Amino acid sequence: MNPSTKAPSTPPIGLMSAMREELDLLLQAMPDEHRVTVGGRDFWQGHWQGRPVVAVLSRIGKVAAATTATALIERFGVGSIVFTGVAGGLGPGVRVGDVVLASAFVQHDMDASPLFARHEVPLYGRSRFCTDAVLSRGLGSAAAQMLAQVGVHVGDDAVREFGLQAPQLHAGLIASGDRFVSTTHECRALQQALPEALAVEMEGAAVAQVCTDYGVPFAALRTISDRADDDAHADFNRFIGQVASRYSLAMLSAWLQA
Ligand code: SAH
Repeated sequence: MNPSTKAPSTPPIGLMSAMREELDLLLQAMPDEHRVTVGGRDFWQGHWQGRPVVAVLSRIGKVAAATTATALIERFGVGSIVFTGVAGGLGPGVRVGDVVLASAFVQHDMDASPLFARHEVPLYGRSRFCTDAVLSRGLGSAAAQMLAQVGVHVGDDAVREFGLQAPQLHAGLIASGDRFVSTTHECRALQQALPEALAVEMEGAAVAQVCTDYGVPFAALRTISDRADDDAHADFNRFIGQVASRYSLAMLSAWLQA
């Protein structure tokens, strides 16, 4: 067959996980995954529910996440990127076990004042980077569907242990920065500086900026693992294994099915 008449193949979806446990569950669901190492990172190419995907650990922090996102776009030609992970809750009523769908990201530790306004990314003329509305709508429905049946996905023991009674979906601004926010003092300062931020984590704003640069649609779902306060470290790893990684698998799976 003349290669020029071949139908163009669908670009893969880039799936970035912040946590090893999340990625492990995802890889179990991919029947044909194979590893390609680029920039010291393992990228897993294959299919999930018949869709071409490339799954990768983002690594932690903004630089690592930006590098991973760039490789997904440049080397693997992904047509969109979806990020899942955990985050600390900042907004009132954003509780452990809830899910936040990002509508936009800001870097809470970006500060080139007085040359630029606080949080503004120099030379971009703005501080907020929006996520893709269409991708986010689909992921939001999948997240709501998962939360409505939380016991089915994490088991009744985890529901009891982590008090996951009627977990909620929130949508709004997420703040990212190169700090694990784990003191009540710092949490209060963030709430004052960015009153509309619902959650804080360490990667999303970097990926959002890279995706804006390349014009690649981006969406992100974060499960609230802590309240970014003095208790933020308690049971963090157990929560990821028992709750957050199962949430991510269920949400992504429901989204791909739809
Ligand atoms: N124990 C982990 C490291 C976690 S670092 C490991 O060994 O892999 C924290 C991760 O959770 C980052 O991906 C960050 O985005 C997210 N996160 C959760 N709660 C956070 C908080 N309170 N402040 C900042 N990031 C948080």
